[in-house]
Amino acid sequence: MHHHQMSARAFEAAREVIPGGVNSPVRAFKSVQCDPVFIERASGCRLFDVDGNAYLDYIGSWGPMILGHGHPEVRAAVAAALEDGTSFGASTWREVALARRIVDMVPGIDMVRLVNSGTEATMSAVRLARGFTGRKKIVKFDGCYHGHADGFLVKAGSGVATLAIPGSPGVPDEVVAATLTAPFNDLEALEALFDREGGDIAAVIVEPVPANMGVVPPDGDFLPTLRRWTEELGIVLVFDEVITGFRLAPGGAQERFGVVPDLTCLGKIIGGGLPVGAYGGRREIMAQVAPDGPVYQAGTLSGNPLATAAGLATLEVLSRPGVYDLLEERGRALAEGLGEAARRHGVACTVQGIASMATVFFGQTGPVRNFDDALRSDTGAYARFFRAMLERGVYLAPAQFEAAFVSLAHGWDEIEVTVQAAESAFKELA
Ligand code: PLP
Repeated sequence: MHHHQMSARAFEAAREVIPGGVNSPVRAFKSVQCDPVFIERASGCRLFDVDGNAYLDYIGSWGPMILGHGHPEVRAAVAAALEDGTSFGASTWREVALARRIVDMVPGIDMVRLVNSGTEATMSAVRLARGFTGRKKIVKFDGCYHGHADGFLVKAGSGVATLAIPGSPGVPDEVVAATLTAPFNDLEALEALFDREGGDIAAVIVEPVPANMGVVPPDGDFLPTLRRWTEELGIVLVFDEVITGFRLAPGGAQERFGVVPDLTCLGKIIGGGLPVGAYGGRREIMAQVAPDGPVYQAGTLSGNPLATAAGLATLEVLSRPGVYDLLEERGRALAEGLGEAARRHGVACTVQGIASMATVFFGQTGPVRNFDDALRSDTGAYARFFRAMLERGVYLAPAQFEAAFVSLAHGWDEIEVTVQAAESAFKELA
């Protein structure tokens, strides 16, 4: 049995002074019905909690740690940057170098602006799309997550025709009314929405491979058709590649699927574990951003020296030959291993993955193609699986509608150990 006394004490102390005891809701482990663990440190693919328990980490800080924790080159880059000073509020060469690398690697990005989080990136991209088109409405897909800015907190609606319902108190009705929603992978619904509202829509924002309802790959014609229709209607197509950027391929989902958006949002990996986001795209659109253009967006810490150093070092390692093949093979080994283990023990589930991310949807018998499908998952079974895996030293996302992330630091041995832990967990659950 793992002991969690120190974590329990820390959580109690946290709840006194931090809402829910956490600085981001999912960390409270609510949906898996156990107390959260507090982390002391991490190395490679392992996390160590404050009680001295070790875990194989499949969260990777929710995506950024694609090289694993404490990668020597990232540490060296951050240490060197630290010597020079932590923030100047003025321009540095590192920002230019990171922007250049992003422009060189991502097909749809001619120019890029660095911000501090994925939320800032998506929020700014939508403002820019509205400024560029002079239109007000945006379209998002049910079950996609684009950070916590007002306009994105619209609950998964019951379809295209329905005016969206606020997903959070505090979001003004006018903002909600400007956000239209559609089911992912549903071109018919999208066509109806475009027929009705097309001329008023500034932007369609989409996770090209949603990972925030669990991993849901797009149907073959979904992204190409979305690209064609948005172009015809003068709608800015925004790919939210905060998760998929530099994970599905060096140039993200847009490279992998050969569909180039007008704007791209990035985060996570480009900060190497420090706070960074970015939005970029076609030169003509990015030229509208202040100070050269009228669309305002700024940031005290944007382009921060430590964060850009970590991001640059991370992208440098990711640019080396063979890296993505290795990530792909290990991701596939994990997904296949989990799927086979579940089948052997008669646990009903669908495992979906792409590149180095995967989700086990419990209680499913067929493919999960959209949010409605995902919501039919057995979250109770997921919670039991999560707890059984944690007990066996494997740290998965503490919620069904998330992805497991594999890093370069996950070796074959660790993946094997993980699949064995899943065998034993499935056996217990079956
Ligand atoms: N977009 C996507 C696809 C995300 O997964 C997230 C966060 O998980 C965000 C945007 C928001 O990023 P951040 O949490 O850095 O604000």
